[in-house]
Amino acid sequence: MRRSRADVVVIGAGPAGLAAASAAREVGARRVVVLERDERAGGILPQCVHTGFGLRRYGRDLAGPEYAGLELARALKSGAEVRLDCCALRLEPGGGVRRPNAVVAVSPAGLEEIRAPSVVLAMGCRERPAGSLGIPGSRVAGVMTAGTAQRLINIAGIMPGRKAVVLGSGDVGLIVARRLALEGATVAGVFEAVAWAGGLPRNVSQCLCDFGIPLFLGHTVAEVHGRARLEGVTVCEVGRDMRPVRSTAREIACDTLLLSVGLIPENELSREAGVPISPATGGPLVDECGASLTPGVYACGNAVYVHDFVDDVTTEGEIAGAAAARFALGESGDRRRDGCKMFFREGRNVRFVSPAFVRLGRGRAWPSLALRSRRPAANVTPVFRWEGGQCSGPDLEFVNPGETIRLNLPVEVRGLIESDTRRDVTVEVSLESQ
Ligand SMILES: Cc1cc2nc3c(=O)[nH]c(=O)nc-3n(C[C@H](O)[C@H](O)[C@H](O)COP(=O)(O)OP(=O)(O)OC[C@H]3O[C@@H](n4cnc5c(N)ncnc54)[C@H](O)[C@@H]3O)c2cc1C
Repeated sequence: MRRSRADVVVIGAGPAGLAAASAAREVGARRVVVLERDERAGGILPQCVHTGFGLRRYGRDLAGPEYAGLELARALKSGAEVRLDCCALRLEPGGGVRRPNAVVAVSPAGLEEIRAPSVVLAMGCRERPAGSLGIPGSRVAGVMTAGTAQRLINIAGIMPGRKAVVLGSGDVGLIVARRLALEGATVAGVFEAVAWAGGLPRNVSQCLCDFGIPLFLGHTVAEVHGRARLEGVTVCEVGRDMRPVRSTAREIACDTLLLSVGLIPENELSREAGVPISPATGGPLVDECGASLTPGVYACGNAVYVHDFVDDVTTEGEIAGAAAARFALGESGDRRRDGCKMFFREGRNVRFVSPAFVRLGRGRAWPSLALRSRRPAANVTPVFRWEGGQCSGPDLEFVNPGETIRLNLPVEVRGLIESDTRRDVTVEVSLESQ
């Protein structure tokens, strides 16, 4: 096995990993290596040929491959090494600058181990597969995730079918429904079990309404039919118990069923390494700099939580990469990592909060919180509660589970962060209807 050393190893060359690598080099890390298992860099972006990327960052409406190209060029110009066809297999945490972490990876050149004081986890997320839904029927061809269909059309140039049904209304499903329609296929409808769309309102409008594709809320696919290839599906309304109501069943002839039923941060590697994972997001528990609770291990992008916009992924990648480099260069010692923390806990109508914690003390950065609601609600007040106190943030007109909310911390919570508290503090964040 080949062995080498670096200051920072980044796992994943999506927008998060590329931004982390550029920032790590820009703050002075000497050797920064990015490991990417795919044959191209850019993560999910090369298959997203639609526009809508980079409005905030570049002030331009870019297609996914264009955005990826800019970020890759920046990483290469910074001097980071981007290794393609190179899959990280294992992370062995070391514990600090004197005992670096080890990453074991495999590429066509064989196995190698890279030791580095800092590792940035930027593995993105993957789609929930068909098996996790347990829909009755045989394992026919033509049932696939929406992202697989997107890759087939936009990268391999293959149409997955001519008449499709989409189960789940996540952003990927909405975007691929439009893509199929643009290529001349029929999309019979998008079926969503809950009473609201899972994706961004702009995608419901631009991908479904503009193309006359119906959205059936409170519906699901109860059965798939066909022998070798999918021939049709049975759709039903969903009852209060979230089960299909059989009396409402109807059949739709189709050759393709696309699943857009959730994204899961990709963290097998992190779990095996013992990096603490948030049950709310499925990603590592990180602070406002992307530092996990494992010394020298940082995380960013969709590996932490599923982001709406790539611009935010890039910004958080830069913050994590710069912090990882400073740690590797000994500019933020192990000592500071053991200080007291403020943990954020999900309260009423909150699915997750990120960052999961901040370190307490004077001069700390006050992060804005990213959170998602569990249910849609109008006229909502964000409420922060801790032992012995509570305060509220500015009211929100509407919250939607498909859209990330960004909240600035109220002055009372910022005061707690700067206080001389000698113990950890837990702050519960709720979204309360007025
Ligand atoms: C279909 C779709 C449409 C979208 N549309 C928009 C849009 O219009 N506008 C917008 O702003 N945002 C959009 N987004 C969101 C944005 O693209 C993502 O938030 C962003 O790509 C996440 O970046 P990432 O680097 O965290 O993850 P990814 O882009 O998923 O990159 C992760 C990388 O890590 C690699 N990797 C994983 N494990 C390993 C390993 N063990 N070893 C080596 N490499 C590994 C993967 O191969 C991948 O290349 C869209 C996302 C999707 C899925």
